[in-house]
Amino acid sequence: MVVKRLNPDKIWYLPAILKGMGFTLKRFFINLLFKKRRITLNYPEEHYQYGPRFKGNHILTVKKDGNLRCTACIFCATNCPAHCIKITAGESEDPEVEKYPISYEIDMLRCVFCGFCEEACPVDAIRMGPEWQTPGLSGSSFVYDIKHLAYRKGLGKGVLSRVDDKERIKAGL
Ligand code: SF4
Ligand code: SF4
Repeated sequence: MVVKRLNPDKIWYLPAILKGMGFTLKRFFINLLFKKRRITLNYPEEHYQYGPRFKGNHILTVKKDGNLRCTACIFCATNCPAHCIKITAGESEDPEVEKYPISYEIDMLRCVFCGFCEEACPVDAIRMGPEWQTPGLSGSSFVYDIKHLAYRKGLGKGVLSRVDDKERIKAGL
């Protein structure tokens, strides 16, 4: 049997406590004296700017005519590991559009922000944007519908999809 001797750091926890307090004090004086070196922000007055690949709250994109790009193919809902996307598809009167979503809902309290829905979409109809704040007063306010996903305040008349309808039909999507 091998008896392992513990080093003094592990027997006496006081050095570790002092080391931790020293680090806290160091950060305290850096924050106090050098504003530019601060690593904390005064939220909500100051917001952190995440990179363009950040996966925040979802956006349903629109076509040039302002209608939803989504073709209700259900790929995103099928791919979603949290089963938080609910889509009701309807037939479109436009012969070039096979289906469209009558309703599209995402339960944000179940979403794990994995981005699989965005990856699965063949027509750039769903994107994960830079927003991450999700305030709400009740559980139902976290179920985002079409109005919120595509036309909420801050999105204006909607975010234009990169995939044009003509290109989509040409590609057989
Ligand atoms: S980000 Fe992930 S969990 Fe959230 S809706 Fe998309 S696929 Fe589902
Ligand atoms: S994968 Fe894209 S087009 Fe298909 S239902 Fe989802 S958002 Fe709509």
